[in-house]
Amino acid sequence: MTNNNFEPIPSSFMFKSLLDMNTIIMTANPRIALVTKGIMRAAKEMDAPLILELARSECNLEGGYAGLTPAAISKITRDAAKELEFDMWSLHADHIGIKKGTDEDIEATKKLVDGQIEAGYTSFAIDASHLFNFQGGNLREELANNIDATTKIGLHIKRGMGDKEYGLEVEVGEIGREDEHGRVLTRPEEAVTFIKALNENGVYPHFLAIANGSAHGNTYDTNGNRIEQVSVDIEQTVAVAQALKDNNLDVRIAQHGITGTPRDLIHNHFPHGDIVKGNVATFYQNIVWDLFKVYEPELYKDLWDWTIANYKEKAPEKNDNELFGKFSKFAIKEFFDRIYSVGEDTLEAIDAMCYAETLIFIKAFNGQGTAKIVRDHMA
Ligand SMILES: [Zn+2]
Repeated sequence: MTNNNFEPIPSSFMFKSLLDMNTIIMTANPRIALVTKGIMRAAKEMDAPLILELARSECNLEGGYAGLTPAAISKITRDAAKELEFDMWSLHADHIGIKKGTDEDIEATKKLVDGQIEAGYTSFAIDASHLFNFQGGNLREELANNIDATTKIGLHIKRGMGDKEYGLEVEVGEIGREDEHGRVLTRPEEAVTFIKALNENGVYPHFLAIANGSAHGNTYDTNGNRIEQVSVDIEQTVAVAQALKDNNLDVRIAQHGITGTPRDLIHNHFPHGDIVKGNVATFYQNIVWDLFKVYEPELYKDLWDWTIANYKEKAPEKNDNELFGKFSKFAIKEFFDRIYSVGEDTLEAIDAMCYAETLIFIKAFNGQGTAKIVRDHMA
């Protein structure tokens, strides 16, 4: 089967055909959707598969903080794929977050999923990782609420997709969570217990998001200067993947929070094939903001002033630089019309930067030429 109509394909096809190969699937977040075409052009040029994703907080039936509904991002990404004649991409619902796990929470989540399925999503990530019972006696008890909520939504997706193939990601261990000892990491036995329980319940994920030392968004030092992120615990990540393999579970790791991680560290030291999906999100927002400084200085100033005015009180200890880096994502919806009507030269610069930076990510992920393997698998 060749994908001649340039519609999104299930990420499970990418997962299955690249399983245990030395590669990570490029996964980008078009929170400011002006970045979409540059990213896609790079993937096409490198002949690499691409997953495009937005989280529930950013994109939901009400629009989220990116001001985009599932139908809206679906149209933008589909139009781009058709224009560029790019056949090797998936549309993924990142962090379908379930924070409470109450009946009301589950029902609202099902409605969101229905909207995503209707909009033509081909891949889904259920995130009930917040639901952790610290009083649980054993691992299974500690994870019971996560297992329960993930099962309910997992089976709902299964029903909704019917006989259509799709990719599935789940999450165990909240990414970036810290206790008095620092970042809390997912243990190998936790990952295995979680996946086995889901399998028993009829839910079969491909990708597993774990807490392995990264955090979402930009990283800052104590003075509020943006710095590189070098905190991914590679040894622990390999141990989790090994435990999954030892238990004959065809599930591998989705690396969240890549923004700020040096590309040479990824290229030379990340365990490609244990990590199979690499999520890059805030990085692309940084590109847009940096270009706005020069190309759209008035808009940039208004974005800056709005963010500082609205978030200073929430984190008075942080300097303005860090406040903007952490909270400017909430300005996207506020300035939606102005962001989406920037000049042609701005669009051209965004496109060029996103293209070039995505080339480097795909190189670091060993993605070059891997789209052909997926195509052959689909044939
Ligand atoms: Zn994430």
